[in-house]
Order: sequence, then structure tokens, then C-alpha cells
Amino acid sequence: MPPVRHLLKNCAAVVSDDGSGPKVLRDVDILIEGPAITAIGQGLADGPLAEGVAVTNAEGWFVYPGLVNTHHHFFQCFVRNRAELDWTRLSVLEWLDRIYPVFSRLDEDCFYHSSVTAMAELIKHGCTTALDHQYCFPRHAGKRLIDRQFEAAELLGLRFHAGRGGNTLPKSEGSTIPDAMLETTDEFIGDCARLIDSYHEAGRFGMRRVVVAPCQPVNCYRETFVESVALARDRGVMMHTHVGEGESAVIQARHGMRTVDYCAELGFAGPDAFYAHCWELTHDELRTLARSGTGVAHCPEPVYLVGAEVTDIPAMAAFGVKLGLGCDGAASNDNSNLMHCLHSAYMLQCLVAAKRAHPVPPAADFLAYATAGGAQVLGRDDIGRLAPGMAADLFAIDTRRMDYVGTRHDPLSLIPRVGIGAPVDLTMINGRIVWRKGELVGLDEGKLFAQAEAALAASGAAPGKPL
Ligand SMILES: [Zn+2]
Repeated sequence: MPPVRHLLKNCAAVVSDDGSGPKVLRDVDILIEGPAITAIGQGLADGPLAEGVAVTNAEGWFVYPGLVNTHHHFFQCFVRNRAELDWTRLSVLEWLDRIYPVFSRLDEDCFYHSSVTAMAELIKHGCTTALDHQYCFPRHAGKRLIDRQFEAAELLGLRFHAGRGGNTLPKSEGSTIPDAMLETTDEFIGDCARLIDSYHEAGRFGMRRVVVAPCQPVNCYRETFVESVALARDRGVMMHTHVGEGESAVIQARHGMRTVDYCAELGFAGPDAFYAHCWELTHDELRTLARSGTGVAHCPEPVYLVGAEVTDIPAMAAFGVKLGLGCDGAASNDNSNLMHCLHSAYMLQCLVAAKRAHPVPPAADFLAYATAGGAQVLGRDDIGRLAPGMAADLFAIDTRRMDYVGTRHDPLSLIPRVGIGAPVDLTMINGRIVWRKGELVGLDEGKLFAQAEAALAASGAAPGKPL
């Protein structure tokens, strides 16, 4: 069967990048064949290329590369908007004591339906690739939790990187994790290897990737990280963990060095590694990341709910740290909307600009962090930019609305500066339209909603049940 071909005709603006930096192309068509873009230019609809093509009228549309989410915890969608978990009234330890018993009651269905929930929200707001850091493995829930997440991604059509997380260090040795959610290093590494064998698609346009992602150095034995490095390097997959989110002093006391040096010493650093957060890193530590090519998944929105420090993005940009954006989980950010996070990322830097040693990067750079930057952080060169030969991962906004009057002269800065409240008008992933005209294509959203609510109600995490 010949590949499906699409033509987006008469796009008002396309944010394109052939590798030399983002450029806005006005009044052009985009031709898509199978999973990839084959041409961007004027008059494609009139030539022989357009024969047998499904044509979509894109008049008035701004078309962007799909957003790349580099850090999330989908399961936390089932514990959001709960007054009992109010960071402004709880210390971190009190909060952990309340939340972990809830996490430990989640079952396999919760992991599946919370993933469908988060993925649907991401897609509606222009996200086309997401990494989920799934570190919650309650013993009773079994080991098929990430398998169910791949199932959810397949259903929705999302390009999915599964960060296989886990914790090995007991509370009695200084971690914050209840015993019922611990694994041994062998269990953890064994399951990472099984998932890589079963799902990892290393080739171009791969829809499924596996990332070895022990949760945090502070909650794992040293050997867990050493074994993670050995497995990831042996199989050629990426590594991910949390760094610089308030634990550096604990790691210093335990290992005689802060987290960045500790990870580097264990080999958990380099172009095949990326860390979430990094808000407490010193400039020297940021330079270390830049030198080693280690990426950062910057999640701006925990600043609001948790009161985390605003990450020093100007310094990261000045030193050349590889940077992508993420939502983080609903325990610290109750939405799964990377479009919103992109706006926040820029606005928060403006808020504290006067306190910085380096200038805030231009608004357009924040769009690049959320797209090409995220792709680079995830170790991919086939997504994150719109150009012939790249994956057809994109979203479109019909700008012929009152919301956009006066903003249309600069598509590159529109999202960081103005923000986009409503869902986008179209999301395409790997050449397939997955969201159009307010519908998840081929799916019954009402049914998905009812199934997710039922799974939540049946679980030990249902709102109203004591924490
Ligand atoms: Zn996280």
C-alpha cells in the first residue's frame, strides 16, 4: 500500500528549520508522505506532487514543530487538585509522608488511564513527543505498568519515550520511599532490559523508545546508577534522573560531593544523559553539564505550586547547556499542558531578569527549547524541526481569531510572549492527524473520560478517600 500523503495548503506561516535556525515561511504548503515531510514551499498544491493527496485548507494557520515534553510523571494526574496536598502548608517531608501512601495504592489500571489522560491533554495542546518518568512501582501493581503506557501511547498516536524509573534505597538508609515501593537493583535493571528488548525502536521515526531512569541519586544505591550506566551504554539507550532539585546537600553529606559531580563520577553524564530540574546548580556545575553534553529537562511550573527556585536559564543558555522543557508531574504541576509551560518558562525568566548575571534569551529561543532543544535532549535528530526529511510531527493554530489580533507579525515569539489558551486546531504525529476540530481522531473522548473516572473511583487514590 502506498504511504498516506497529506498536503497542508496555504499555511499563513510555517516555523521551519533546516538545521540553520528557525525561519518563518509565509504562504506556503507542506507536503507529507508517510511519516515524513517531503516538501515545504509555494505552489505544491498545483504541481504533479499533489496527485492523490489528502488536502487540508490551512489558510490563516500558523504551523509549528510539535512540542517535545522531556519530563513528566503521568500517574500523578490521579492525585491532582487535592486540598490536602497543599505545598504552601506542608514541609517537603510532610508532603512526602502524605503522597506516598496514595501512590502506593495505585493499580495497573490507574497507570494506564492516567497515562491516557495526560497524553490526551498533551496532544490537544500541540505536544507530539513525550517522555514519562515512571518511577512508581507499588509491589501489588506488578511489572506491566510501562507496557500499559506503551498501549496508551499506541491508542492516542503519541510518540512516547518511556523513562523506566525506580527506587532501591530503603527509608532506614536515608531515602524517602516506603518499602512497598522499593525494588532491588537487579529487579530494576532486569525490567529495563526487558522493556528495551520488547519496545525500543532505535531507528529513524521510532515511535517507542526506552530510557533507563533511576528516580533520584538520593533514593537509590550507588550500584543502581553504576548498573544503569552499564546497561544503557551496552544497549545504546538514553539515561535520565532528577538532579539539583534540593538534594545536593544530602548527596554532599553522603558521598562527599554534590550531585552533578557524583553522577559524573558514576558515568551517568554525557550526550546520552539528561537531568530533570537542575534549579540549584552553581554556574560551575552548569559549565560541567555543557562540557559533557548532558541535557537538562527544565520544568518551569513547579515554581508556582511548590515554590521552587526559578531555574537560571540565562546562565544555561550562555554556557551552552542542552535544554528542553517538561511539564513535570501533577504532584508539583497540576496540568499536563506543555504549551502553558512554554509560556511560563519565558514569563518566569522575565520576572527575575534583573537578578541574573546573563540576559534572558529572546522569546523565540524558548520555542526552540520546547521543540528542537527537547529533541536534542532526548537524543533525536529526526523530530523537533519542520524541514524535508524530518518527521511530520506538527501542530497548527488558526490565528483568524480575536485572540491573535496584533500578534501575527511574529510567529516565533507568539507562544512564549502571548500564550495560547485554547487547544490547537490540528496535531499531526508521524504523518497521522491525531487531533482535529476538537476531536481525538478515531477515538470517543466521552468513553475515555468515563473509563478514566471509573479507574480512579475504583482505586485507593479516589478523592474523598483518606490519604
Ligand atoms: Zn520529576
